[in-house]
Amino acid sequence: MAQHQARKRFGQNFLEDEAIIDQIIRAIGPRPVDNMVEIGPGLSALTRPLTQALERLRVVEIDRDLAARLRHHYSPNKLEIIEADALSVDFGALGPNLRIVGNLPYNISSPLLFHLLDYADAVLDQHFMLQREVIDRMVAKPGSSDYSRLSVMLQARYRMTKLFEVPPEAFNPPPRVVSAVVRMVPLPADRAQARDAKVFSQVVARAFSQKRKMLRGGLGDWTPHIDWEALEIAPTSRPADLSLEKYIALADHLMDKGV
Ligand code: SAM
Repeated sequence: MAQHQARKRFGQNFLEDEAIIDQIIRAIGPRPVDNMVEIGPGLSALTRPLTQALERLRVVEIDRDLAARLRHHYSPNKLEIIEADALSVDFGALGPNLRIVGNLPYNISSPLLFHLLDYADAVLDQHFMLQREVIDRMVAKPGSSDYSRLSVMLQARYRMTKLFEVPPEAFNPPPRVVSAVVRMVPLPADRAQARDAKVFSQVVARAFSQKRKMLRGGLGDWTPHIDWEALEIAPTSRPADLSLEKYIALADHLMDKGV
Protein backbone atom coordinates (compact mmCIF):
# COMPACT_ATOMS: atom_id res chain seq x y z
CA MET A 1 0.00 0.00 0.00
CA ALA A 2 1.08 3.55 -0.64
CA GLN A 3 2.99 5.38 2.04
CA HIS A 4 0.74 7.36 4.36
CA GLN A 5 1.25 11.11 4.52
CA ALA A 6 0.78 12.23 8.16
CA ARG A 7 -2.27 14.51 8.50
CA LYS A 8 -1.83 17.43 10.83
CA ARG A 9 -5.54 18.01 11.31
CA PHE A 10 -5.86 14.53 12.82
CA GLY A 11 -2.86 15.06 15.11
CA GLN A 12 -0.90 12.33 13.38
CA ASN A 13 2.53 11.64 14.85
CA PHE A 14 3.35 7.98 14.48
CA LEU A 15 5.30 6.22 17.19
CA GLU A 16 8.28 4.35 15.77
CA ASP A 17 10.61 3.67 18.69
CA GLU A 18 10.33 -0.06 19.39
CA ALA A 19 11.68 0.23 22.94
CA ILE A 20 9.00 2.79 23.81
CA ILE A 21 6.29 0.74 22.14
CA ASP A 22 7.40 -2.22 24.33
CA GLN A 23 7.39 -0.04 27.42
CA ILE A 24 3.81 1.11 26.73
CA ILE A 25 2.58 -2.42 26.07
CA ARG A 26 4.19 -3.63 29.33
CA ALA A 27 2.52 -0.76 31.19
CA ILE A 28 -0.86 -1.73 29.70
CA GLY A 29 -0.32 -5.43 30.42
CA PRO A 30 -2.89 -6.84 27.95
CA ARG A 31 -4.51 -10.19 28.83
CA PRO A 32 -6.09 -12.37 26.10
CA VAL A 33 -9.74 -11.87 27.09
CA ASP A 34 -9.55 -8.15 27.89
CA ASN A 35 -12.33 -5.96 26.52
CA MET A 36 -9.93 -3.42 25.03
CA VAL A 37 -10.45 -0.51 22.70
CA GLU A 38 -7.67 1.56 21.16
CA ILE A 39 -8.32 5.16 20.13
CA GLY A 40 -6.37 6.30 17.06
CA PRO A 41 -4.51 3.15 15.94
CA GLY A 42 -2.83 5.02 13.07
CA LEU A 43 -0.17 2.84 11.46
CA SER A 44 -0.50 0.10 14.11
CA ALA A 45 2.43 0.90 16.43
CA LEU A 46 0.39 -0.29 19.44
CA THR A 47 -2.26 -2.17 17.47
CA ARG A 48 0.13 -4.85 16.21
CA PRO A 49 1.48 -5.95 19.63
CA LEU A 50 -1.99 -5.60 21.17
CA THR A 51 -3.60 -7.88 18.58
CA GLN A 52 -0.83 -10.40 19.28
CA ALA A 53 -1.64 -10.38 22.98
CA LEU A 54 -5.44 -10.23 22.76
CA GLU A 55 -8.05 -12.55 21.30
CA ARG A 56 -9.75 -9.53 19.82
CA LEU A 57 -9.25 -5.75 19.73
CA ARG A 58 -11.50 -2.86 18.81
CA VAL A 59 -10.12 0.39 17.43
CA VAL A 60 -11.62 3.81 16.76
CA GLU A 61 -10.01 5.63 13.83
CA ILE A 62 -11.28 8.81 12.16
CA ASP A 63 -8.99 8.76 9.13
CA ARG A 64 -10.67 6.86 6.31
CA ASP A 65 -7.38 5.92 4.62
CA LEU A 66 -5.89 4.57 7.84
CA ALA A 67 -9.08 2.61 8.55
CA ALA A 68 -8.82 1.10 5.04
CA ARG A 69 -5.21 0.08 5.66
CA LEU A 70 -6.20 -1.62 8.89
CA ARG A 71 -9.01 -3.48 7.12
CA HIS A 72 -6.48 -4.66 4.58
CA HIS A 73 -4.00 -5.91 7.21
CA TYR A 74 -6.19 -7.56 9.82
CA SER A 75 -9.02 -10.05 9.74
CA PRO A 76 -12.34 -8.79 11.12
CA ASN A 77 -12.29 -11.58 13.72
CA LYS A 78 -9.13 -10.12 15.19
CA LEU A 79 -9.74 -6.40 14.76
CA GLU A 80 -13.05 -4.57 14.79
CA ILE A 81 -12.63 -1.16 13.20
CA ILE A 82 -14.96 1.60 14.28
CA GLU A 83 -14.44 4.31 11.68
CA ALA A 84 -15.58 7.33 13.64
CA ASP A 85 -14.66 10.41 15.60
CA ALA A 86 -13.82 9.16 19.11
CA LEU A 87 -15.57 12.27 20.48
CA SER A 88 -18.90 10.94 19.26
CA VAL A 89 -18.45 7.27 20.15
CA ASP A 90 -20.77 5.85 22.81
CA PHE A 91 -18.15 3.97 24.84
CA GLY A 92 -20.93 2.78 27.13
CA ALA A 93 -22.15 0.53 24.32
CA LEU A 94 -18.85 -1.36 24.18
CA GLY A 95 -19.51 -3.57 27.19
CA PRO A 96 -18.27 -3.62 30.78
CA ASN A 97 -14.71 -3.64 32.17
CA LEU A 98 -13.52 -1.64 29.23
CA ARG A 99 -9.79 -1.05 28.94
CA ILE A 100 -9.18 2.06 26.82
CA VAL A 101 -5.74 2.77 25.40
CA GLY A 102 -4.23 5.08 22.85
CA ASN A 103 -1.55 7.38 21.70
CA LEU A 104 -4.06 10.17 21.47
CA PRO A 105 -4.30 12.97 18.95
CA TYR A 106 -3.09 15.89 21.09
CA ASN A 107 -5.41 18.43 19.45
CA ILE A 108 -8.46 16.77 21.04
CA SER A 109 -6.96 15.56 24.36
CA SER A 110 -9.05 17.65 26.74
CA PRO A 111 -12.44 17.19 25.02
CA LEU A 112 -11.75 13.47 24.72
CA LEU A 113 -10.82 13.13 28.41
CA PHE A 114 -14.04 14.95 29.31
CA HIS A 115 -16.05 12.78 26.90
CA LEU A 116 -14.63 9.61 28.49
CA LEU A 117 -15.59 10.85 31.97
CA ASP A 118 -19.20 10.01 31.07
CA TYR A 119 -18.30 6.33 30.71
CA ALA A 120 -16.02 5.89 33.72
CA ASP A 121 -18.49 3.44 35.31
CA ALA A 122 -17.92 0.99 32.45
CA VAL A 123 -14.14 1.37 32.49
CA LEU A 124 -11.53 -0.83 34.13
CA ASP A 125 -8.61 1.41 33.23
CA GLN A 126 -7.20 3.82 30.64
CA HIS A 127 -3.62 4.17 29.40
CA PHE A 128 -2.89 7.18 27.24
CA MET A 129 0.06 8.90 25.67
CA LEU A 130 -0.52 12.63 25.76
CA GLN A 131 1.37 15.86 25.68
CA ARG A 132 3.42 15.97 28.91
CA GLU A 133 1.94 19.34 29.91
CA VAL A 134 -1.57 17.87 29.81
CA ILE A 135 -0.60 14.94 32.03
CA ASP A 136 1.13 17.33 34.44
CA ARG A 137 -2.16 19.22 34.68
CA MET A 138 -4.15 16.01 35.15
CA VAL A 139 -2.09 14.93 38.18
CA ALA A 140 -1.38 18.41 39.64
CA LYS A 141 -2.15 19.10 43.29
CA PRO A 142 -3.76 22.25 44.77
CA GLY A 143 -1.41 25.21 44.95
CA SER A 144 0.52 24.15 41.86
CA SER A 145 0.35 26.37 38.78
CA ASP A 146 -0.71 23.29 36.77
CA TYR A 147 -3.76 22.72 39.00
CA SER A 148 -6.80 23.39 36.81
CA ARG A 149 -10.34 22.41 35.95
CA LEU A 150 -8.93 19.29 34.27
CA SER A 151 -7.10 18.27 37.49
CA VAL A 152 -10.19 18.61 39.69
CA MET A 153 -12.64 16.98 37.27
CA LEU A 154 -10.40 14.01 36.54
CA GLN A 155 -9.12 13.53 40.10
CA ALA A 156 -12.75 13.37 41.23
CA ARG A 157 -13.20 10.27 39.09
CA TYR A 158 -9.81 8.55 38.61
CA ARG A 159 -6.64 7.62 40.39
CA MET A 160 -3.98 8.76 37.94
CA THR A 161 -0.30 7.96 37.66
CA LYS A 162 2.16 9.57 35.29
CA LEU A 163 4.28 6.60 34.17
CA PHE A 164 7.08 7.91 31.95
CA GLU A 165 7.99 10.58 29.42
CA VAL A 166 8.59 10.08 25.71
CA PRO A 167 10.84 12.38 23.64
CA PRO A 168 9.74 13.83 20.26
CA GLU A 169 12.34 11.73 18.41
CA ALA A 170 10.33 8.58 19.15
CA PHE A 171 7.76 9.72 16.56
CA ASN A 172 7.55 10.35 12.85
CA PRO A 173 6.99 13.21 12.26
CA PRO A 174 8.27 14.36 15.67
CA PRO A 175 5.75 16.50 17.57
CA ARG A 176 6.89 19.87 18.91
CA VAL A 177 6.26 18.79 22.49
CA VAL A 178 7.44 16.15 24.93
CA SER A 179 4.93 13.37 25.53
CA ALA A 180 4.17 11.16 28.52
CA VAL A 181 2.11 8.11 29.39
CA VAL A 182 -0.56 8.14 32.08
CA ARG A 183 -2.56 5.39 33.79
CA MET A 184 -6.12 6.26 34.88
CA VAL A 185 -8.10 3.91 37.11
CA PRO A 186 -11.68 4.88 38.01
CA LEU A 187 -12.21 5.37 41.75
CA PRO A 188 -14.61 3.00 43.51
CA ALA A 189 -18.31 3.84 43.86
CA ASP A 190 -17.85 4.74 47.56
CA ARG A 191 -15.42 7.57 46.73
CA ALA A 192 -16.10 11.05 48.12
CA GLN A 193 -18.31 12.77 45.59
CA ALA A 194 -20.72 15.65 45.22
CA ARG A 195 -24.44 14.86 45.51
CA ASP A 196 -25.04 16.25 42.06
CA ALA A 197 -22.35 15.70 39.44
CA LYS A 198 -23.74 18.45 37.22
CA VAL A 199 -23.64 21.11 39.94
CA PHE A 200 -20.12 20.00 40.86
CA SER A 201 -19.01 20.33 37.26
CA GLN A 202 -20.60 23.80 36.98
CA VAL A 203 -18.94 25.00 40.19
CA VAL A 204 -15.51 23.82 39.09
CA ALA A 205 -15.95 25.29 35.60
CA ARG A 206 -17.09 28.64 36.89
CA ALA A 207 -14.33 28.86 39.51
CA PHE A 208 -11.58 28.13 37.00
CA SER A 209 -13.04 30.33 34.27
CA GLN A 210 -11.25 33.18 36.05
CA LYS A 211 -8.23 31.39 37.36
CA ARG A 212 -6.50 34.40 38.88
CA LYS A 213 -9.56 35.92 40.52
CA MET A 214 -10.39 35.43 44.18
CA LEU A 215 -13.28 33.02 44.62
CA ARG A 216 -15.60 35.66 46.08
CA GLY A 217 -15.25 37.54 42.76
CA GLY A 218 -15.03 34.57 40.43
CA LEU A 219 -18.23 32.85 41.54
CA GLY A 220 -20.45 35.73 40.44
CA ASP A 221 -24.09 35.63 41.55
CA TRP A 222 -23.47 32.53 43.67
CA THR A 223 -21.18 34.47 46.01
CA PRO A 224 -23.85 36.08 48.27
CA HIS A 225 -25.25 32.62 49.07
CA ILE A 226 -21.98 31.17 50.28
CA ASP A 227 -21.27 30.74 54.00
CA TRP A 228 -17.47 30.81 53.76
CA GLU A 229 -16.95 30.24 57.47
CA ALA A 230 -19.10 27.11 57.57
CA LEU A 231 -17.19 25.77 54.59
CA GLU A 232 -13.84 26.77 56.10
CA ILE A 233 -12.86 28.38 52.81
CA ALA A 234 -11.29 31.84 52.69
CA PRO A 235 -13.29 34.02 50.25
CA THR A 236 -9.95 35.45 49.18
CA SER A 237 -8.64 32.06 48.03
CA ARG A 238 -8.07 31.49 44.35
CA PRO A 239 -9.47 28.55 42.43
CA ALA A 240 -6.10 26.77 42.42
CA ASP A 241 -5.97 26.78 46.25
CA LEU A 242 -9.01 24.56 46.79
CA SER A 243 -8.74 20.81 47.25
CA LEU A 244 -11.11 18.40 45.54
CA GLU A 245 -12.88 17.89 48.90
CA LYS A 246 -13.52 21.64 49.18
CA TYR A 247 -14.98 21.76 45.66
CA ILE A 248 -17.29 18.89 46.62
CA ALA A 249 -18.30 20.71 49.81
CA LEU A 250 -18.88 23.94 47.88
CA ALA A 251 -21.10 22.19 45.31
CA ASP A 252 -23.18 20.49 48.04
CA HIS A 253 -23.44 23.79 49.93
CA LEU A 254 -24.79 25.59 46.86
CA MET A 255 -27.31 22.78 46.39
CA ASP A 256 -28.43 23.14 50.02
CA LYS A 257 -28.94 26.84 49.40
CA GLY A 258 -31.06 25.99 46.38
CA VAL A 259 -28.81 27.95 44.04
N1 SAM B 1 -1.44 5.01 17.61
C1 SAM B 1 -0.63 5.47 16.50
C2 SAM B 1 0.81 5.55 16.95
O1 SAM B 1 1.06 5.42 18.14
O2 SAM B 1 1.69 5.72 16.10
C3 SAM B 1 -1.12 6.83 15.97
C4 SAM B 1 -1.10 7.97 16.95
S1 SAM B 1 -1.48 9.55 16.26
C5 SAM B 1 -0.79 10.58 17.51
C6 SAM B 1 -3.22 9.80 16.54
C7 SAM B 1 -4.17 8.88 15.79
O3 SAM B 1 -5.53 9.22 16.15
C8 SAM B 1 -4.11 8.97 14.29
O4 SAM B 1 -4.22 7.69 13.75
C9 SAM B 1 -5.32 9.83 13.91
O5 SAM B 1 -5.81 9.60 12.61
C10 SAM B 1 -6.32 9.39 14.96
N2 SAM B 1 -7.36 10.39 15.28
C11 SAM B 1 -7.26 11.74 15.24
N3 SAM B 1 -8.40 12.33 15.63
C12 SAM B 1 -9.25 11.32 15.94
C13 SAM B 1 -10.60 11.28 16.39
N4 SAM B 1 -11.28 12.40 16.63
N5 SAM B 1 -11.18 10.08 16.59
C14 SAM B 1 -10.49 8.93 16.35
N6 SAM B 1 -9.21 8.91 15.92
C15 SAM B 1 -8.60 10.07 15.71
